[in-house]
Amino acid sequence: MISLEHSYGPLITNVQRAMSLLIKEIKAKSILSKTGIPGAHYSINPYTGCSHGCRYCYASFMKRFTNHSEPWGSFVDVKINAPDILKRQIKKSRKGTIVISSVTDPYQPLEVRYELTRKCLEELLPYQFSVDILTKSPLVHRDIDLFKQFKEIEVGITITTDEERIRKIFEPKAPPVDARIRTIKKLCEARIRTYVFIGPLLPLIPEVLCEKLAEYVDYVFIDRMNYITKTRSLYKKYKFEKWLNREYQDNIVARLKKGFRGKKVNVC
Ligand code: SF4
Repeated sequence: MISLEHSYGPLITNVQRAMSLLIKEIKAKSILSKTGIPGAHYSINPYTGCSHGCRYCYASFMKRFTNHSEPWGSFVDVKINAPDILKRQIKKSRKGTIVISSVTDPYQPLEVRYELTRKCLEELLPYQFSVDILTKSPLVHRDIDLFKQFKEIEVGITITTDEERIRKIFEPKAPPVDARIRTIKKLCEARIRTYVFIGPLLPLIPEVLCEKLAEYVDYVFIDRMNYITKTRSLYKKYKFEKWLNREYQDNIVARLKKGFRGKKVNVC
């Protein structure tokens, strides 16, 4: 396995320091969960909470189920027994597609230290379930060696804007846009099936984003901003209100579709 401890180690420390990240190691009762996500049968979330702490994150509802009162993005529960539980659960489960992850980022900085996502993938390998990975993190390229051993796998990178200034407003603790674009390129070069998840659709210049990505993705997912109650104040503060207008969004989506011509583009 390629060790990235050297390059990502300082990232963990920085995140912990900068965010006073509360890290708790817990033992989960179950790790392979049935899901209602279209096209998927199960989800695996090796962590509860996410240090990326995106301002729009829909997964913040997890606080209610985990007795966390801290702000979203400031705590992560680490399910240290995830690979062991998965080993037991996978044997008894009907084959299907697994999303990794649905309510956390499986390659957030703590994954460097704990390697739970990697170890879960190792448990899945002999069973060859179909795997759909979604992340914002360049760390995902650490596991390309494993991805190559799956018959059916795709890796999605979430890129919500082409502008770093916008990323810093909505996703202040997540990896930079350029790093994510480079990651898609690396995955594509490794012949892994890739997609870009443009969701939620943030202020962007469609042609710029398409130009940087079209060559490297197999398909595209676009999701509009559905979490307006969480972000309305940001739209107001930075004078982005027009981006909440449905007609304006439709125009942007049409320009994205044009830029990704020849690729399948799903719009939610
Ligand atoms: S990376 Fe995903 S799970 Fe993590 S805070 Fe951002 S939107 Fe939520």
